[in-house]
Order: sequence, then C-alpha cells, then structure tokens
Amino acid sequence: MGATEEEEKFPFDINPMYEGERVRKAGMDVELGGQVKPGFELVLFDPEPENIKDGEVSLIGPDLEDMEEGGKYAYAMIYRVYGEQIEKDLEAVIERRNHEYQSYIQGYMHLNQRGEIWVRISKDAVKKGLKSLKQIGRATIMLFKAELPFIERIEATFITDEEEVEKRLEETNEIYKARDEKTRGLHDEDVDEFYQCTLCQSFAPTNVCVVTPDRIALCGAMSWFDSRAAARIDPEGPNAAIPKGDCIDPIGGEYTGVNEAAVRLSSGEYDSIKLHSFLEKPHTSCGCFEVAGFYIPEVEGIGWVHRGSKVSETPMGLPFSTIAGSVGGGKQVQGFLGIGIQYFYSSKFIQADGGWRRVVWMASDLKKRVADAIPEEMKDKISTEEDVKDIEELREFLQRIDHPVVKGVIREVDGERVTEGWAVKEEAAEAEAEAKAVPPAAQVPPASIPRMASGAGAGAGAVAGGGRPIQIILKNADISIGKIKVKRKERK
Ligand code: SF4
Repeated sequence: MGATEEEEKFPFDINPMYEGERVRKAGMDVELGGQVKPGFELVLFDPEPENIKDGEVSLIGPDLEDMEEGGKYAYAMIYRVYGEQIEKDLEAVIERRNHEYQSYIQGYMHLNQRGEIWVRISKDAVKKGLKSLKQIGRATIMLFKAELPFIERIEATFITDEEEVEKRLEETNEIYKARDEKTRGLHDEDVDEFYQCTLCQSFAPTNVCVVTPDRIALCGAMSWFDSRAAARIDPEGPNAAIPKGDCIDPIGGEYTGVNEAAVRLSSGEYDSIKLHSFLEKPHTSCGCFEVAGFYIPEVEGIGWVHRGSKVSETPMGLPFSTIAGSVGGGKQVQGFLGIGIQYFYSSKFIQADGGWRRVVWMASDLKKRVADAIPEEMKDKISTEEDVKDIEELREFLQRIDHPVVKGVIREVDGERVTEGWAVKEEAAEAEAEAKAVPPAAQVPPASIPRMASGAGAGAGAVAGGGRPIQIILKNADISIGKIKVKRKERK
C-alpha cells in the first residue's frame, strides 16, 4: 500500500500554473509513450467497492531509477474507480482529466490522450527527488479525489514493461472502440442539446469545443454521451449543455445555440461555427486534435494526417508538426481543421464540403486505420504517400483515377455541386486564353498597322526610330491622362 497524501510530501510542486509546461529533449530524463514507444491511459469503473484498494499504486516494469537517462520507454496508466454516483459513461470523462491533473505536476509533461499519450520527465524533477513513477501515481490519485469528489475509491496500475503494455493496449483498443461505437446510431437532429468542453481553454483560451452525437470531440476522448454524463455529475466543471436553438444550416451544421456559445466561450472572438464544414466557419482547434486536415488549393481537395503517423511528409511538403502548428491554438483557421478519429465515421463528416468526395490524400497508416469508414466508391481514389510525393504527382494521380475533384464535387447529401472541378476550370481558362490571343505583330500585314508620323511618340501603331513599326497592345488597360500637350513640329 502506498503512502497516503497526508504521509507523503512530494518532491515536486503541484499547481495548475504548470499546465502547458514543456520538457524539451535536452532537459529530459526519460520519455514515456510518444511516437516511439507504446502507451495508453485508461479508467475503468468497478461496481464492487471492495475490489479496489483505495490509494494503491502498483508498477509493472522498470521504475525511473532503473531507466537510462535520455531513454524511451513504454507506459500505461490504468485507474480503477468506484463511486455510488459513477456510471460507465463517466470512465472516459475521468480518463480525460488524467491529462489535466498530471499537467499540474512540475517537471512532468503529459500530452495527448488514450493510446497516443506522450510523457516526458525532466532532469530537474529527478534532481529534486522524483525517483519513482509511484510518486506520480499517488499525486494523480490525490488530485482525482480532491477535484472529483464523486470518486470514492481509486487505485492505479502503471506499466512500463513494453510487452505487457502492448498486450494490454490490444484489449484497451477494444474498450475505446466499444465506447466510440455507442454514439453511431444517434444523430444531431435526435437531441435537443449539445455539450461544450472548456478543459483546454487553459492553454487555448478562445477554443470552443462543441461535442455532438455526429461530432466527437477533436481530442477523441469525449463523446456526446460522455459529455452529458460529465455535465450531470460535475455541473461546475468544464462540460455544460448547449441548447441547440434553431438550425440555420442543416448541412453545414450551424445552430443559433452553438453560435451563442461560440461568442460566449471565445470572448467574442468568433460568432459562428459550422460543425460539419471544413472551409466555412470551421470548428476551432486547441492542440489536442487526433487528426489534422489541410486544404490543398491546387486540387481543391483535402488531406489528412494523424498524430503519431509514421509518415514524415504530406504532398504539401509539410510534416504533421508544421500542420499542427497551423491548426491549433484555439483558432478558427480556414483551410485547416482538427478532428477526432471517430469523426471519419460520422455520416455528417465535412458534409458541407462534399464529405469523402473531397478527400484526396491520407497518410497510409491513417487510411488503413479508418478503412471501414471510407465509402467503397472512394477507397481507391484517395492517395497516400505511397502513391504521390508532391502536388504535381497528386494532380496526375487524381486525373488518372478520375477523382471527383477533377471534374467537380457533387454533394451526396443534397446533390448540390460544391466545386466546378480544377481540371475543368483549367481547360476552360486555357481555351479562353487561346481565343483571346492576338496574332503576333509579325503576322499582321504592315498595311493594317496604323502609322503615325515618324517620331510622333508612343501609342498604338507607333513607329520606332528606325522606321520599323512596333505594335503596343494594351489589354484591359485603364488609362487616365492628366494633361495632353500638342505641339506643332516645325518643318526644316
Ligand atoms: S479537446 Fe475539447 S473536448 Fe477534448 S478535452 Fe480539450 S476542450 Fe475538452
């Protein structure tokens, strides 16, 4: 049994001011989870209080003292909780708070969620006396119980043994999947309320997270059911109901209630949000999105890459980290969008822009992961880094497979044409240019060129000093002349 909070004095500060603290590579003692090693966090509700050894933290695998400085290790955090008021829907809500509370610990950086967690512990924290992950576990349990009093009993199992983490991750992915599938039969029009989440406003103050049945939170950790459970049990917390109000745009997903919430939550920065639109009034994104979407103007299409992707570059030549920098910060950025992976399964997935018919590129590991969400007609039409390396190759690929963006996207939901098709527009522009083209001066009979008296100056049909006519063509010119002086030329 671990020491209780009264008995233990932690060798690190615990304070919300450390939220957002970054541990850089140079100052890092160890890295847990992240891009290289498996990791996850999970909260499980147990209806039998006696099954839970309240306050206990156990560790399977090497502890901090056994780890090499600069090393990278697997990491799983599993919490089992009991409380009379707790229901299964609250598992994901409590789990999401792990990020918040662990971010209060000085020298301990916790990023992301679920199976994407990325933790770094600083050398300074180790120097100050942090020597065991159990200390982190006990501090986190202390915060859980202080902040969420409905948790009556809680125990934690931390795992750093890589084989064990991988084995448990497989089971955990099934739990995440079951949670995600729960909302698939429910749609935005079936409910009267959506839910707001302000948890990430501590580092992205204008971020407005709206969770609906058809739009899971962009961090992927909060479904509509989870948010509803959180709002009920913790009315003072970050989740609260947003009455939908009137529907302004059923395809883009614009509601008066959401617009009012946007003004209120962003302190007036934004006054409207379309829940299912990529290009017009898009949803804001903090830094926690699971997937980043980016518009590719050259092909009028959209590409997607996820956090943790093994793919280093997109056809735009930008890696995930650069794209993520454009998406995040709680901003509404036209041309970029952060989403949760489950949004790919939504029947309203960016439907204002043409949905899947607008998707032209995905990182291959992401395409594989959500393969069952992609409509049959689009499966072979979406390229990956294995098909194209840059925009030129992307254009060739899309033309070869006759992707809808080439000749114009027709929205499935209402049959509306949302793009004209870049190839169609380019062909039309070329034809127009050809039709307007003026034959070169050399092909024009000299007699047809108006002539001015030798040395009379510039203008259409002026004659150069050598007596050779030159032709000046003014296209779409807007000429204003302030003053004209006309002088008689004296004959010699
Ligand atoms: S990303 Fe949004 S829904 Fe997820 S925790 Fe942050 S504010 Fe809440």
